[in-house]
Amino acid sequence: MTTEIDAIRTAVLEGAPGDGLAALPLPEGVRGALVRADEQEMFAGMASEEKDPRTSVHVEEFPFPEIAPDEVVLAVMASSINFNTVWTSIFEPLPTFGFLKRLGKESVWGARHDQPFHVIGSDAAGVVLRVGSAVRNWKPGDNVTVHCNYLDDQDPSAHDDSMMATNQRIWGFESNFGGLADLSVVKANQLMPKPAHLTWEEAAVNALCNSTSYRMIVSPNGSHMTQGQTVLVWGATGGIGAYACQYVRNGGGTPVAVVSSEKRVALLNDMGIEAVIDRRAEGYNFWNAEGVQDPSEWKRFGKKIREVAGTDPDIVFEHPGRSTMGASVFVAKRGGMIITCAATSGFMIEYDNRYLWMNLKTLKGCHFANYREAWEANRAVCEGRVHPTLSKVFTLADVGEAAYQVHHNMHEGKLGVLCLAPEEGLGVTDGEMRERLLPEITLFRRHA
Ligand code: NAP
Repeated sequence: MTTEIDAIRTAVLEGAPGDGLAALPLPEGVRGALVRADEQEMFAGMASEEKDPRTSVHVEEFPFPEIAPDEVVLAVMASSINFNTVWTSIFEPLPTFGFLKRLGKESVWGARHDQPFHVIGSDAAGVVLRVGSAVRNWKPGDNVTVHCNYLDDQDPSAHDDSMMATNQRIWGFESNFGGLADLSVVKANQLMPKPAHLTWEEAAVNALCNSTSYRMIVSPNGSHMTQGQTVLVWGATGGIGAYACQYVRNGGGTPVAVVSSEKRVALLNDMGIEAVIDRRAEGYNFWNAEGVQDPSEWKRFGKKIREVAGTDPDIVFEHPGRSTMGASVFVAKRGGMIITCAATSGFMIEYDNRYLWMNLKTLKGCHFANYREAWEANRAVCEGRVHPTLSKVFTLADVGEAAYQVHHNMHEGKLGVLCLAPEEGLGVTDGEMRERLLPEITLFRRHA
């Protein structure tokens, strides 16, 4: 028996026209990766490393909601794992059900999100199936990628830099019906054109990390890097770090890339990055056994940066947080900036403030990207100036395993997830451009 979802998949793969897609019936239940409210205490008392996404993430059917006038139904061909997939699945630093409850109280449409399940995922590439009555710029049949800045544009605070909106949220993390599913609910102002030269899984991995790094490195809302600057990039082959390195190089800067294995050093060298520090081989102990920071280790690190780059960094691209922030504040150049968007290793931060104020450094917070920034970051991918960092592909059924690998720093770049796409390699509409850029597009896969 052909189900509604099989018919949708077949129609998309056969390139059915928009009116044909719009006429297809939608299923009542849709397959998605979700966590359950009644399991949010399942890891209570366990250390972070022991909390296993493979036990908390379930791939099962959930009731698919009606769309609001400013939303579309997306046939998700592929999605990706982000670190927020890990946070949701280990219920840290908070279970995400509180976010859904708050959204549920905002409006009639918001109430749909407050469910005993949370369908996760903050990236997607796919095809528009239905549009709400207020959607102007998109239609059924459009091939799109999705950025995750989810906001209420009726709020005045959303009208300048929309990341400053008081009710700004991350789609699929602070809202329900995210991208790790066969169908998803997406606001029209999250949509961007799919890069024609990429497969579904290559197109799906970029938006969250690429846009975040764009804002942190390129945008005046971030560090606004200029030509000739040196940028220390922590986790330089990770999700956001690998896009940061590309923006630094594109903008005429020099990345000083920090990683933790020889394999990752080789990958960066293959990207054309020479100034690389293997933090594991160097054995930095910024925190000693008593849990106190050791400034002599910051100095040893700073000396190494000068050795490989010939200068102190103008900008430090920070996200590991507690384990590295003391060193990051110390090594930044006089007048330089430490720009941070995360704290993977812990958010209670300690650094020596004397180095910040006496040397006139700036510590700046940064979070995802507004629509304009996400659009520009996507345009860089569409034009082949920034490349996907896809290293491995999983099926939707294996989202728990993929999140486990990200949780334990076992991956490079991005992990893609096939949703409706039955296999890898589909969705390319500009074969000539793909052929030309193939070595860059497949770099992370070759090093996986
Ligand atoms: P990722 O793919 O896991 O990469 C992180 C990299 O950081 C790893 O490859 C690792 O590289 C390095 N790292 C991990 N722990 C470290 C430590 N203790 N000290 C030094 N380096 C360490 O994750 P991601 O996608 O890049 O995300 C990184 C963080 O940013 C996460 O916390 C995520 O939630 C956050 N984030 C925030 C936003 C936002 O909008 N605010 C957006 C995206 C991501 P090596 O081991 O090779 O050094």
